[in-house]
Amino acid sequence: MNADVRGHHAHDVRIEDTFDFLNTDDLDDGFPVEKLPTLGDALTWFVDRGVIHGEGADRLRAQASIDPPGAERDLARIHAVRSALREVADAIVVHRPPSPGSLDTVNRALHARQVIELVPSFDGCVAVDHRHLGDPIDDALARLCDPLVQELTGGDPERIRVCANDTCRWVFYDTSRTGRRRWCDMATCGNRAKAARHRAKSKAATGGDTNAAAVPSGEPPMDVPPIHLLS
Ligand SMILES: [Zn+2]
Repeated sequence: MNADVRGHHAHDVRIEDTFDFLNTDDLDDGFPVEKLPTLGDALTWFVDRGVIHGEGADRLRAQASIDPPGAERDLARIHAVRSALREVADAIVVHRPPSPGSLDTVNRALHARQVIELVPSFDGCVAVDHRHLGDPIDDALARLCDPLVQELTGGDPERIRVCANDTCRWVFYDTSRTGRRRWCDMATCGNRAKAARHRAKSKAATGGDTNAAAVPSGEPPMDVPPIHLLS
């Protein structure tokens, strides 16, 4: 188990990349922060994650400089697929139906995926290659959606989590041995929760707040489902 739990199916895009993409629509202490505010930022992110070729991104940047409205439309498409995919991930986490519109958007993105084909290899045999059919942005979005599909078909979708810290809410994949991780990162969100419980406990001990007496001390029981329900 642990990190190697992911080794049973290989993708060029990992589900962690998919979740990193979702988390670019970020919350910083509860305030929304857009990590991909321009098409240029999005293209840089795509190149860094290897879902778009550098030359393709350069071509799109050149095109964007002569067609700003087109660049805005491309950026809007990226944001729309990201929020639809987030809606699907949220739905999986709390076992509810995703909004039909979100499925339509993700499905449209998936249909634009690259085509896998066999080609003669350099060593005189056969190799697997991919061919881009359409727009490199469509292709990048399809590749980022794909790991979630793979997770549903042959992975462990029950290990998809939303961070229990309400001011974070990052999506992450729980690779812990027990599968009971609640926070995206123990060092930040986990410690913050622990500190809050500690403060509530101290307050209760000094009789400062009667409600706080109900807050359990120490670690939460580990059988608490790591699910954050929206009210
Ligand atoms: Zn978090």
